[in-house]
Amino acid sequence: MTPKTLDMEATKNYIAELDTTKRDWTITARVTRMWEVRYKPTNPTPDTIDMVLLDEQGSQIQALVKKAIVSHFKDRLQEGRIYTMTHFNVGKNNRTRLQVENEYIIWFTSFTSVTLQEESSAAIPFHKFNLRPIDDLSERTNKIDVLTEVIGQLIGVENKITQNHDNNTDQRRTIHIQDERTNKIAVTLWGQQADLVADDVAENGAQPKIVIITATRVTMFKGNYQLNSTGGTKLYINLEIPEVENFKKNMTDVPLQEILHIEVTQPESLEEAMTKNRKTITELQQIYMEGEENQEAKNTYTCVAKIATIHDQECGWMYTSCNNCKSKIDENQYCNKCEDVPEFPTDRYRLIATIDDGIATMTVGIFDKDVKKIIGKPITSMVKIYNQDNGPEKVAKELQQCIGKKCTMKLKVNDKGYIQELTAIKVFHIETEEKRTPQRRGKEILREIKKEGQPPKKQKMHSITTTEETPIITAGTNTNPEPVQLHDQLLHQGQSS
Ligand SMILES: [Zn+2]
Repeated sequence: MTPKTLDMEATKNYIAELDTTKRDWTITARVTRMWEVRYKPTNPTPDTIDMVLLDEQGSQIQALVKKAIVSHFKDRLQEGRIYTMTHFNVGKNNRTRLQVENEYIIWFTSFTSVTLQEESSAAIPFHKFNLRPIDDLSERTNKIDVLTEVIGQLIGVENKITQNHDNNTDQRRTIHIQDERTNKIAVTLWGQQADLVADDVAENGAQPKIVIITATRVTMFKGNYQLNSTGGTKLYINLEIPEVENFKKNMTDVPLQEILHIEVTQPESLEEAMTKNRKTITELQQIYMEGEENQEAKNTYTCVAKIATIHDQECGWMYTSCNNCKSKIDENQYCNKCEDVPEFPTDRYRLIATIDDGIATMTVGIFDKDVKKIIGKPITSMVKIYNQDNGPEKVAKELQQCIGKKCTMKLKVNDKGYIQELTAIKVFHIETEEKRTPQRRGKEILREIKKEGQPPKKQKMHSITTTEETPIITAGTNTNPEPVQLHDQLLHQGQSS
């Protein structure tokens, strides 16, 4: 077989020339990355096949194959190979979470033809990355326009964790990397991407392992940046490219570190967490009254109840906290716990609410993120409203929206409580009352009262907190937040405010 050579027509265009003015483009490019996109993880066939194309000039563009023609192209395209492509559509790029920056995007149509080319036909590298330093990710936090690519030395691998949500199994694995100056960051690989790193990666082959991870999202957790994989994330170990060679050269002062295996415990499922130690308010009152005599008083409980009253007029609705310890700071901006004036005092929600399970009522303290979840507004927005004309009245009205919402909460008896007997450690699930006709309403309330004490029936979740984020590791230890510590922290807020 004679190798195909490129004719004049086939080399006609470069990626940099593409725009929406015409349709008869021809480019020769390497499919440097290819992945399947499923809008829902359970979809049996991919909704699109996405690619990153790279040409001889070093330009990159993302290309997509629509669902209807996925099967046609699936066997005709292979990651890493060079193709000449003709008769595709070029569109304005208005998508988010793209892997490369380009004003345009390519759509393959049923008219598009792709011709495999010999490796020698064009001088196109196998990879091109836009690597960002891991000690400078502030600008990328929570941005979803273009995803983030990083390079680092692999220093820690956690075991894979499986979580069950409803009928879906979700797996994840967190790995830890550091740069040439030992700045560390945790990268959580979600779903299929958890298998990009094997359990025995440390035992296999040469050390150090320099990894390049593409298409990640940057998030912030407890003052630390962290990275999260997306469906198109690729992970490359010790690629023979200049970026990796330079990285190795620059880390000569850093002692070679063994890859740590970090054992993390399987978290309980949401269902388990939501129904664990389920109590009625009457049972909780009993435990509270017995105080320390009841061994159970130190446990956490779950409870389903409606918010009946918000005591914002008597007890306030927010406090300004120390950014170090989350305690309330005094009127001189001083934190008594840290014995210092915190640099960035932070506003936090703190509501005292009466909850009602249809049989009994009790007061409970609800904090920051959980209040935001119930109200649907961050504290910053609420403070802005407060500062408007008639702000206090507007805020009071906003807070009234909590009333009637049925919450599945994780609670702890607050033995030092002055106003509230209970602290809500977590609000899992909020049901908003649907608009009902008054006639139906009475019946439904009756039905709900009859059902008290039974586990909640499965309903559409309005709000679920399941994101567990991992802070970066410190040498040799697993610093996954201990649930107990988190609870204590929250309790401390309850007592200090
Ligand atoms: Zn403090």
